[in-house]
Amino acid sequence: MSSSPVLFLAEIHPDGATTFSPADASAPHVRVDDLGVTRGDGIFESVAVVDGHPQSLRHHLERFARSAALLELPAPDTAAWAQAVADAAAAHASAPELLAKLVLTRGVEGGDVPTGWVHVFPAHDYGSQRTAGIDVLVLERAYPSDVVTRAPWLLQGAKTLSYALNTAAQRYARAHGADDVVFVSSDGDVLEGPNSTVLARLADRWVTPPPDLGILDGTTAGRAFAWAAGRGDRTEVARLRVDDLRVADAVWLLSSGRLSAPVRSLDGVPRPTDAALQAELLHHLLTVHD
Ligand code: PLP
Repeated sequence: MSSSPVLFLAEIHPDGATTFSPADASAPHVRVDDLGVTRGDGIFESVAVVDGHPQSLRHHLERFARSAALLELPAPDTAAWAQAVADAAAAHASAPELLAKLVLTRGVEGGDVPTGWVHVFPAHDYGSQRTAGIDVLVLERAYPSDVVTRAPWLLQGAKTLSYALNTAAQRYARAHGADDVVFVSSDGDVLEGPNSTVLARLADRWVTPPPDLGILDGTTAGRAFAWAAGRGDRTEVARLRVDDLRVADAVWLLSSGRLSAPVRSLDGVPRPTDAALQAELLHHLLTVHD
């Protein structure tokens, strides 16, 4: 059992079958001409490992496979990746919250073998975001809401390694006194955060925007919906406008690592949060293993 990060490297065979073997996470392994490094040409998933259990692993692996298809990468050997996540999580010293990062790149330039690995490490501490909430800016993604069909080469909806734009948006938010971002389409649809899904509580409904807007199908939102449905609430995957977020009873950003963070202001305007609902939702996300 390792108290430092755990790494399993993939060996991807010509027929797609994949085997994993443990490697030293503190040693270099990726070549400088790997297209994942030089072009961000690849995909990833970040899976929360809560009390040793990889949460929503099947949903993550389905999304991983969809991202691979969108980038025309070979289909991941799902059973092998699932086993590697389980083995890597089990090999790490136990901790309440770990993260398992799955990476698949197009491989070394000029070759035709993808590069892949599973890396398990302690999760960032999101304690204060979960309790105090976050200040959010609404920023333009500047793509239309039909970007998926109009311009599929933009890969919206795939979880690619090209996250420089996402982190730039978060730096912009921090430089302007906020913690995070909600993107809107050029025609005014609420999309997602740079690394999160938007969830709104509107009267008796829980709403999150639809993936066909070119956003990720959030695994944490899926878990939140299961919780909401379990308490008898209405859940809807539906379009939202920014004005809906302004009048919503409560808004959250959800992601595998932070789980749920209440949005306490939007574009500098304070908005209500619901501490009791946040406590109940977070408790579900931290204690129910699915
Ligand atoms: N949208 C984007 C762009 C993301 O990067 C993420 C996660 O990192 C999410 C949404 C939330 O997805 P999940 O809840 O599966 O972590």
